[in-house]
Amino acid sequence: MANKQKLADQIRSNVEMAKEGDKKRKGGKTGLPKSASSNAYVAPHRHCSVCNCPIALKRDPPICGEVKCLDEYETRERQRKRWNMLLYIAPAIMVGALVLQLMAGA
Ligand SMILES: [Zn+2]
Repeated sequence: MANKQKLADQIRSNVEMAKEGDKKRKGGKTGLPKSASSNAYVAPHRHCSVCNCPIALKRDPPICGEVKCLDEYETRERQRKRWNMLLYIAPAIMVGALVLQLMAGA
């Protein structure tokens, strides 16, 4: 069967191509050049969590110097803390209700 032979050849060449692609992808996850001499080089940095301006990598809290960003960040932080508290309090209330029910039944 000539047709089958052709198909097998095609599959083999596809496998070869996939292997090649793997080798190329291993270099870096982003595809961005790592050396500072390249035009497309991007220095390691992070972004303001409010306005996404590039800021220093070790900046903490992760915001730029803008006052509105600081306000927004603090508001978000408060909301996050409230949610975290709620996540602990809600199961505690449920367990408490269960215990009360068990005590009332006994
Ligand atoms: Zn900002």
